[in-house]
Amino acid sequence: MTSSIIEGLKKPDIFYGSPKAGNFKKADVDKFAEDVALKLGYNSSDEVSAYCLYDIVKEKLGGQLHFVEKERLENEIYGTAVIHGELDFDIVIPRQKGLFDANFTIAHELGHYFLHSIQGKLPLIAKRGNDEPSERAEHEAKWFAYSFLMPEQRFKVEWEKCFRVPELVSKYFLVPPVAAKNRAESLGLAI
Ligand SMILES: [Zn+2]
Repeated sequence: MTSSIIEGLKKPDIFYGSPKAGNFKKADVDKFAEDVALKLGYNSSDEVSAYCLYDIVKEKLGGQLHFVEKERLENEIYGTAVIHGELDFDIVIPRQKGLFDANFTIAHELGHYFLHSIQGKLPLIAKRGNDEPSERAEHEAKWFAYSFLMPEQRFKVEWEKCFRVPELVSKYFLVPPVAAKNRAESLGLAI
């Protein structure tokens, strides 16, 4: 089942696929995501700001963010991207999600935009639900989100500054504590 919200965002005459794994190497996705973030001007200043991420989606990528009541969604309660074309996409986020979760969701959906739709060249709808999405593609989008939001070098510095406490460093990067913890583990940092 797809909610009428998602149906309503589709544009006529576009065939929407679903994300197919690119079989990228994790290291390549990590590097690519950091480059994209840098190019877009995210995370380049001392202060990480959620509003900055929203602005980038809107101003630089032509995307629209929709914060929607969870009750109005069907199987899209984790967030959905409807990608129509180049610099043209919608991201739906349940409004009950906290700021940190919302950021992570947006970065994850940007992963689908950059990796799986090849910046809009392949229209697609990326959602987690009963559609059995490619697990590999989900991992790739997740890798993108981690590196986009928490670039390696910077994360290592802040990790030490924040006493290696995921709950503290998560506030710096505006991500859920579990995401900060996973990032530390994947970088082999001592907890
Ligand atoms: Zn996804």
